[in-house]
Amino acid sequence: MQKDLNLFIQLAELLLEEEQKNPVAKPIPTQSLYNNLDLSLDKDGIIDEDLSNTLKKIIKSTPKTASKSFFNQLFGGRLGKATLGDLLAVLFNNSMYTYKVAGPQVGIEKQVLKSVCALAGYAKDSDGTFAPGGSMSNMMALIMARDFKNEAIRTEGLSNKMTLYTSKASHYSIAKNAALTGIGRDQVRHVNTNGKGEMLAEHLDTLIKDDLANGYEPFFVNATAGTTVLGAFDDIKSISKVCKKYDLWLHVDGAYCGGVIFSNTYKHLVDGLELSDSFSVNAHKMLGTPLSCSIIITQHKAQLHHSFSNEADYLYQTDGDDFNLGKTSLQCGRRNDALKVWTLWKSVGTKGLEKIVDKQFEMAKIARDYMAQNDAYTLYSFENSISVCFNYKGIAANRLCTSLYKNADLMVGFGKFNTVEFVRMVTINSVLEKEDVLAFFKNLENHVAEKMLNINAS
Ligand SMILES: *Cc1c(COP(=O)(O)O)cnc(C)c1O
Repeated sequence: MQKDLNLFIQLAELLLEEEQKNPVAKPIPTQSLYNNLDLSLDKDGIIDEDLSNTLKKIIKSTPKTASKSFFNQLFGGRLGKATLGDLLAVLFNNSMYTYKVAGPQVGIEKQVLKSVCALAGYAKDSDGTFAPGGSMSNMMALIMARDFKNEAIRTEGLSNKMTLYTSKASHYSIAKNAALTGIGRDQVRHVNTNGKGEMLAEHLDTLIKDDLANGYEPFFVNATAGTTVLGAFDDIKSISKVCKKYDLWLHVDGAYCGGVIFSNTYKHLVDGLELSDSFSVNAHKMLGTPLSCSIIITQHKAQLHHSFSNEADYLYQTDGDDFNLGKTSLQCGRRNDALKVWTLWKSVGTKGLEKIVDKQFEMAKIARDYMAQNDAYTLYSFENSISVCFNYKGIAANRLCTSLYKNADLMVGFGKFNTVEFVRMVTINSVLEKEDVLAFFKNLENHVAEKMLNINAS
């Protein structure tokens, strides 16, 4: 193992160096991927030196998500202490289902959950778990809501047409989960939003009323804290009123920006969170931990248990249910996703996490301010969002982003709201500074001037 650890350090150093030297890896076209790199799996193994050389080549051409040129997704950057925690988790290789095999790691997970519950303003008997990602956290919320409405579903299956509500700007996992859980995609009602992408509570009310009149059984509303494209926050308080009126489970999908609970400046964006039944947040997004690190909490601890526990004599042999986390998780064997967020949190404190979150809003503001002073940009974003959406010189966003990527200049993606398509630059990497954000625009402008304007005709 010592030998492999030494190799690991060597490879990690190469990766860090590459991130500096070549912040955007030159992409390999898919047609030539297997010719370019030796990815084959053969009958005979190879000597360590060849393996090391192969890995080095792979490192060079793997996209660099921690570099200063990566603005492509809702994650990015690297926080040392969180990475340290995840590396340790790999070495420990515990499975989080029982206290017997995970020991103090169970305590670590429980502590993170407890602290997140407290920050969300959840009541004392709240609880939660770590899911394999935000989509799965949303699915767990949906399952709890379904079973909460009708306990018999767990044994008998669905009999009614149950309907759920989410905004048009919400994440696709809501509809996908409706399919996966037997609710059905057709039973998903997409609520209208205002011009910022925030759900309209009045339209929600109308849709529910119509469904009730038509014999459907409404059971679940999903509000979003940070919509995937624009980064908008649904108004939890007004949505909660509608949920209370019709007795529906309210889930807040904070996968993207639920991290605002750590910030005194921005937690007002999730005002009313304590009125929700469940809440999810991806630490691998705003908190910058390695993928994946998704937390789902609920104020209905008993429901979490009812929906996800299963007796298994071969597994649960010691200690109480409270410390055997397999009783409340989606999976059986489960990797330790808690340690990385705990290590970071322990190291920088809640105040440090607040700084991490605030920094992202600050960088987004710098980006918006820059564009406001330059006529060549059309800005679609607004205050309190870390998704900076814009177009430049009327160039199609799709074309611009693809050209930036193919030329290894910048990693940035595009998105769509209503009918407008735009570049979506995400300032989620809290390690970046003002000059890095400004360098993004300089890079983009140079790219357009040198590589795009003269081939406009093509
Ligand atoms: C990213 C995101 C998800 C999905 O999270 P994964 O961890 O990628 O599965 C869900 N909802 C919203 C609003 C998101 O931005």
